[in-house]
Amino acid sequence: MSKVFFKAAEEIGPANTHIDHIKELFWKIPVVEKGDLVAIKIHPGEYGNTTYVPPVIVRTVTDLVKEAGGIPFITDTTVLYRGKRFNGPDLLWTAAVNGFTFGSMNAPFISADGILGDDSVEVPIGGEYIKNITVASAIAKADAMILISHCKGHPASGFGGAVKNLGMGCLDKEGKAKVHSPGKPDIYPEKCTGCGKCIKTCPWDAISLENGKACVDKNKCKGELSCIESCKFGAIVPPENCTTEIQARLGEASLGPLRLLPGKIAYINWIFDLTPGCDCFNFSAPAFAKDVGIVASKDPVSIDKASLDLINKKIIEEGCMHSIIDLWGIDPIIHLKYAAKMGAGNMEYSLCRI
Ligand code: SF4
Repeated sequence: MSKVFFKAAEEIGPANTHIDHIKELFWKIPVVEKGDLVAIKIHPGEYGNTTYVPPVIVRTVTDLVKEAGGIPFITDTTVLYRGKRFNGPDLLWTAAVNGFTFGSMNAPFISADGILGDDSVEVPIGGEYIKNITVASAIAKADAMILISHCKGHPASGFGGAVKNLGMGCLDKEGKAKVHSPGKPDIYPEKCTGCGKCIKTCPWDAISLENGKACVDKNKCKGELSCIESCKFGAIVPPENCTTEIQARLGEASLGPLRLLPGKIAYINWIFDLTPGCDCFNFSAPAFAKDVGIVASKDPVSIDKASLDLINKKIIEEGCMHSIIDLWGIDPIIHLKYAAKMGAGNMEYSLCRI
């Protein structure tokens, strides 16, 4: 059973700020030793998103890493879909626009998988679905990592927290494509008008028109699914039940960074601004439940299980839904169970309110 330390949102006030809470929690999860190169893995938010973890919180962690004797850098990886984080320069641009500059952080922001998203280290994990996974170089080659995750809903895994940040956010493009691969979509030709919008959306040139109808080349497709949203006619659909296998792969892939940095990763989950969608969206929808607080642990599965339990408790108190499953019809426990099965962490935890 792993310990999860908790500071409730209700306790925040002028004499007990978010920053005070982060400082107290940081010293409960020590992983930084003198001279360590420390990756502070965040999600800087897509351009237009406004509910990612605030820069002042990340700056506080950066200062704490220095106080512990480490050499911090802030980092994230490039993404599979077209947007403002597709390559390294775009990722740095978006991070800067969203507040993560050298000036604000007093530490550099680095694209962990390089300028094209292919700079990585392959690590064997021996999963049921994934045998080897490619972890972004700047994370793989660090001495320690503080993984800061904004908890929120997610259309592919029901919930995004620490396990998703490890099993997707720490991978290069090839690794992400392995996790997404069950999502390669099908086309209903009878619904397709041949408008070509999906062709422009796909950054992998995986869609073309054949006889006036869209056609997906599954060898080129990375399963990132932005084409589905682009089609206003419902002609592109993901394979049935693909989210279960995507979650299984996500849970398995979370082991990659853990294999490379054994005992050297600490986790902070930021449970504020509980948006239905992830920080990759170029907008932030209203929260589906009130703020919960901050949790910290050295176990990624325990911290996510505790976060989910706290969120579900809040949902029930507010009577807005039955559980987080109602958001997308997806049970996020599946990816946590796969991560636990791989040995990434424990589903059992003890919550220590401090
Ligand atoms: S966006 Fe939809 S309707 Fe338009 S070409 Fe693609 S599949 Fe067909």
